[in-house]
Amino acid sequence: MNSISRRRFLKITGFSVGAAAAASALSPVIKGAGKVNSKDVKGIKKIPTFCDICFWKCAAIAYVKDGKLWKIEGNPKDPLSKGRLCPRGTGGVGAHYDPDRLRAPLIRTRERGEEKWKEVTWDEALDFIASKMKNIKEKYGPESVAMFSHGIGGTFLKHTLKAYGAINFGAPSFAQCRGPRDVGFELTFGDIIGSPEKTDIENAQCLTLIGSHLGENMHNTQAQEFAKAIENDATIIVVDPRFSVAASKAKYYLPIKPGTDTALLLAWMNVIVSENLYDKEFVGKYGFGFGQFKEEIKQYTPEWAYPETGIEPELIRKTARTMAMHKPASLVHPGRHTTWYGNDAQRMRAIALLNALLGNWGRKGGFYFPAKFPVPAYPYPPYPKPEKDKLDNPGHKYPFASEEITTGIREATITGEPYPIKGWFIYATNLIHALPNQEETIKAIQNLDLLVVVDVIPSEIAGWADVVLPESVYLERYDELNTAPFREPFVSLRQPVVDPPADQKPNWWIAKRLAEKLGLKEYYPWKNIEEYLDYRLKKAGLSLDLMKKEGVVTASGQPIYVEDGIEPEFYTPSGKVEFYSVQLQQAGFDPVPKYEKPEDPPPGYYRLLFGRAPVHSFSRTQSNPILMDMMEENEIWINNDVANRWGLKSGQYVRLKNQDGVLSNKIKVKATERIRPDSVYMVHGFGHNSKMLKRAFMKGASNSELITRYKTDPLMGGTGMNVNFVTFVTEV
Ligand code: SF4
Repeated sequence: MNSISRRRFLKITGFSVGAAAAASALSPVIKGAGKVNSKDVKGIKKIPTFCDICFWKCAAIAYVKDGKLWKIEGNPKDPLSKGRLCPRGTGGVGAHYDPDRLRAPLIRTRERGEEKWKEVTWDEALDFIASKMKNIKEKYGPESVAMFSHGIGGTFLKHTLKAYGAINFGAPSFAQCRGPRDVGFELTFGDIIGSPEKTDIENAQCLTLIGSHLGENMHNTQAQEFAKAIENDATIIVVDPRFSVAASKAKYYLPIKPGTDTALLLAWMNVIVSENLYDKEFVGKYGFGFGQFKEEIKQYTPEWAYPETGIEPELIRKTARTMAMHKPASLVHPGRHTTWYGNDAQRMRAIALLNALLGNWGRKGGFYFPAKFPVPAYPYPPYPKPEKDKLDNPGHKYPFASEEITTGIREATITGEPYPIKGWFIYATNLIHALPNQEETIKAIQNLDLLVVVDVIPSEIAGWADVVLPESVYLERYDELNTAPFREPFVSLRQPVVDPPADQKPNWWIAKRLAEKLGLKEYYPWKNIEEYLDYRLKKAGLSLDLMKKEGVVTASGQPIYVEDGIEPEFYTPSGKVEFYSVQLQQAGFDPVPKYEKPEDPPPGYYRLLFGRAPVHSFSRTQSNPILMDMMEENEIWINNDVANRWGLKSGQYVRLKNQDGVLSNKIKVKATERIRPDSVYMVHGFGHNSKMLKRAFMKGASNSELITRYKTDPLMGGTGMNVNFVTFVTEV
């Protein structure tokens, strides 16, 4: 699976001249850029930076009025935000003013999980960590310290840990989120979807969403492109057990039985192939194994799919024909949170194959080819050579895992096999809410000699830490540059806008100071981050001064479509789009996806589905006073008929009990026609039980608490989490 990086590298090297030329032609538009550090400053200052309320990294302009942070808007020069932030981004001001923020380093004084601390100085906290790390290295080797992280801010801490000799790094964004999607597409096209997704939503004439809640799951660029597609009168097809906001914009809404999506996908492909509606030129030129694929899907007629999915054969036919009619500007969106039932990489492969039949790879209205702004890396000394292998996936049990598996690291921490893990660093991810089965996470924590949490708020995982390090929020710090591949290559800068209110420090400072205490000074040859950033930017023909004024620099004119003259390349074993996968077959898996029947809920139980709200990110924004004013608690969506049978009314509170007897916090009922009777739905991220999160404490219920079961994807180790069932407990 290394072919991807090779291809990206080629794109980058072919691009540098244009980027430098574009940068030199810029004229600064933001006046008076530079951090405001005195409350006596009068007037308004506008300072460009980029948002961290979610991982999308929209560039923004922060306004500081009379020395105080006032408001945040989108940076009009930014191709991601196009000058408009989402509601969460606008509410980012609340992250700075959040009264529940961590304020000083803390060291645990009682048992783990009791949330009893003493405030210490940064030197005391980092000396404590360094001494524990030295002990672990001596006793078990440096590989026994692992790190979990989310977002760009973890870069420097990872660098320190790599210099120390750590090799086990995991992010829930793979095995708990987009992993099956990237693996399914890589097996088919030899390329991943990436983030931001390379989906050309705005130019699609037909957009199919399968359990993808664009608009509720708020990724600014995608929401704006979705609005444009609707304005352009694109045909929208939505498949979802819940009538989502996206479904309300659809021409066709298919209220599918949960867990049967692969049956629908196979039936759609059956119609498109049997009626000769597929892109014959694309398949003929680039397809591999199409004959075997065609033979295999013959059996999956719409009549076969009907009893599985609950979708009428005629509707399956009509929607398949509609998709095909608009090809290649017909996009079946791959979604993002794709870990549903444990056979997700094969479901995502079916989505990839359907897109392949529509011939939309590299085409306008399909998937474009993104490009990255080339900013060279800083020349650090090489990291020490590890003496052990990574332990998240021993013996390549999950042969197609292309990134580390978080739950694999957790498992190794519990069992001590293939070798013990004794230290965890956790950066900006609340593992108690992010990983399924909280009991296993807590069991793993009990085996640690050191648990360090670096975060801005006292999340549940911080409650289990030995040391908590308070990071300054994104509006108070520099960070790594954002150079994510996109349709218009860009580089953007995060810079401090205001000072932190207490003893919080930026991640780069924490990582550098820890490295010094570990005797790893040579890995930080730069004095401060300004020097680091300026070095990298100058190598790219830019400078820190320029970026501080502009916030974002773009380079336009990069070809992104086949229509622009790009010839697609497929880094699969056959060099083609694999309708039939020999590598899957050789590894003992189905070369063409097959349908697996999902387990039905027991009587009186309902499948627990979960998703996102446009004003919150995961479980990390519920202490932000502005965002909490917009949405303070979640609700449980229950079908009207079911609610009537249980005597439940909208607005009343219930508790949920799952199949293993786990009882949730109380949650408000939303009785609605907008969900199937076999399922219930809630927004993820609520139901906090960290006592230090005063505003969020026990507001709403936590779906994570109820996810005691998960089904592991045999291809890549993703954790399917839509396999839990709940019933109602009316005494609250
Ligand atoms: S999508 Fe919203 S929250 Fe996320 S980075 Fe953009 S503006 Fe911020």
